[in-house]
Amino acid sequence: MHRFSLLLLLALVAAACQGEAAEPPTTTTMTTIAPTTTSSTTTTSTTTTTTTLPPTPTTIPAAPARDAPAPEADASPPTASRGAAVVAAGGADLYRDREAAEPYVRAHEGLLFPIVGRDGEWLELLDHCNDPGWVRFDQVAFSPWNTTTDRPGAGFDFSDAVIVVDPGHGGPNIGAVGPTGLIEKEVNLDIARRTRDLLNAPHTVDWETGEILDGSAIPPAGQVWLTRPEGPEGADIETGLTFRTTIADSLNAHALVSIHNNAAPDGPYDGPGSEVYHQVTSTESKRLSGLIVEEMRRGFSLFEADWVGDDDAGAKIRVGENGVDIYGILRLSDIPAVIAEGAYISNPSEEALLATPEFRQAYADAVYRSLVRFLTTDDGGSGFVDVEPFTAGGLSSGAPVQTCTVAAQPDE
Ligand SMILES: [Zn+2]
Repeated sequence: MHRFSLLLLLALVAAACQGEAAEPPTTTTMTTIAPTTTSSTTTTSTTTTTTTLPPTPTTIPAAPARDAPAPEADASPPTASRGAAVVAAGGADLYRDREAAEPYVRAHEGLLFPIVGRDGEWLELLDHCNDPGWVRFDQVAFSPWNTTTDRPGAGFDFSDAVIVVDPGHGGPNIGAVGPTGLIEKEVNLDIARRTRDLLNAPHTVDWETGEILDGSAIPPAGQVWLTRPEGPEGADIETGLTFRTTIADSLNAHALVSIHNNAAPDGPYDGPGSEVYHQVTSTESKRLSGLIVEEMRRGFSLFEADWVGDDDAGAKIRVGENGVDIYGILRLSDIPAVIAEGAYISNPSEEALLATPEFRQAYADAVYRSLVRFLTTDDGGSGFVDVEPFTAGGLSSGAPVQTCTVAAQPDE
């Protein structure tokens, strides 16, 4: 690799924190605040941090389910030419082109790739470094893209929903780091898995309180996919922005929700300073962003914290002076996409909350309620703010990720 491109890449990785790659990571002074699991006031030499969990937390799963084991390979070629493929047990050979004598990697079982084309027994894919490749159908389990024509809104059958949840960052791209060392990529993955688990099971929601109950008023979603698939590092893998959005596009998903937590607030805020970015040209993306803001404010307000926020917290766009979305997840996706920045991991008080299963579950609950309302009602959401075009920095890139490698299946 050319040295200058490595340096450029390192600079980009270092900048990846808020959203994707817009602002530098916060290097807050280290304090010694332990994560709290009950109501407490923690005093340090410099600050007093109040972090209180709700008085009667409902049953909280301590940890989300692990990803499913690698599936069996398909027995017959697919008829669809777009969808998603999961590497079958034993791994799968990926080729740059079908004439190549050797595969460039035998991909690790369980990895997920969007399928963008098909030729006979060969499936054309985009690997998670944003590079093209081919794989034989009999080394993967293929899910064809969604052909339902229902649009989100009242009357939509939630059991037809195809939802892609994107845990922000991964691998060497760690995202923001809290003052006691809590790492954004790990928190995002845990929240995304909790969201997936909610979507995969039937529930009843008390819409007065927001409480999610055992019940069957809302069926499981039809398909739920995470963009950081289970690999040898337990889904702690680097994936490109184009890879993430191509999964959603290739599945013709109804929504793509990218899970993040924030850094670099303007200052203290009167309540949760949650931000959700939507696509500038999509009214559906905008509606979903307003619903997530509404449900986050409802759910997070049950917790007590020294909240921080931006002056323009809420549902909004982030566009450059040319009017296009700066964030690649929004710009590159053809389906309604949003980036949720639930809480400020850079704030000691909110970092302490983000360390608890209760708050992570509340985050997942808020995203779940928002998706149910987005897909099955005409609710419009709230918390929309007007923002000026963002002039600092360039567009986050969907180009191939030079530092990235596709995890290989270990030898038997
Ligand atoms: Zn982030």
